[in-house]
Amino acid sequence: MALRSQFTLAQPFTLTGVGLHTGLLTEVRVMPGEWNRGRYFVRVDLPESPMIPASIQSVASTTLSTELVQQDSSLETKPSIRTVEHLLAALMGMGVDQARIEINGPEVPLLDGSAQEWVGAISAAGLVPVQSGSNLQDSALDLGLNLDPDLDPNFPISHPLAVQHRDAFVAAFPAAELRFTYGIDFSNSAIGNQWYSWSPQQANFAECLAPARTFVLEAQVKQLQQMGLIKGGSLENALVCGELGWLNPPLRFPEEPVRHKLLDLIGDLSLLGTIPNAHYVAYKAGHQLHTQLAQQIQNLRAE
Ligand SMILES: [Zn+2]
Repeated sequence: MALRSQFTLAQPFTLTGVGLHTGLLTEVRVMPGEWNRGRYFVRVDLPESPMIPASIQSVASTTLSTELVQQDSSLETKPSIRTVEHLLAALMGMGVDQARIEINGPEVPLLDGSAQEWVGAISAAGLVPVQSGSNLQDSALDLGLNLDPDLDPNFPISHPLAVQHRDAFVAAFPAAELRFTYGIDFSNSAIGNQWYSWSPQQANFAECLAPARTFVLEAQVKQLQQMGLIKGGSLENALVCGELGWLNPPLRFPEEPVRHKLLDLIGDLSLLGTIPNAHYVAYKAGHQLHTQLAQQIQNLRAE
């Protein structure tokens, strides 16, 4: 199998902020990774600094954000990391294959609700190719990643795949190049019916997707707060849509909400390591369906 080149950061960077759901202030230090180790989180605030691979096998919960846990941990409360999707989308969109992400708490900061600050920091740090190690499998096993050296990162999607829940779906169609298309449909007229299609060959991730912010309906805010969620949410880090329109305009794009959904999809599919070439089409979906499709692809790839 021909290995493609792998890229990592030329130097580390640090960003600090509040997590959307926990409201906790955390510091994230994104560091150069090593050959074939992928992207992984390290909870530096916990004893023995447990590592949590950013892989589909680590997905624990997909309620309003994607949460990863260290599945093989013997601890009663397995080490976890929440709301990983925007940082992971930024790393994937900017071409960072290998990264060690140290964090001193349970949730990645929301920052301004988009991936813009992550992308800015990645650009400033710069990228370098990773030098191949002498023994790939050993280095992967050291970290408990169980990477299969025969797993083809360019695994082809040879027939359509889909997951569906009621009228929501995510599908992958065979295609020579990567493309993502997303649709949403809300009764709030400020959002309404929006579609967006993006291909990395045609348009820049940093310009077209990274600035799109998280959005929430004003009517849902109270309910989410009663569930103990969105403790760190504010008008500074999420677009809030009321019956009569946006509470905190202006928008960065007319269709900023659907662009953000596409950003989330890329973050979730990045849990595959490499996203196989295909046309991914999603409608009214969320983290649960995104990760279900990723799991289906992973199952095929492991066969
Ligand atoms: Zn999001």
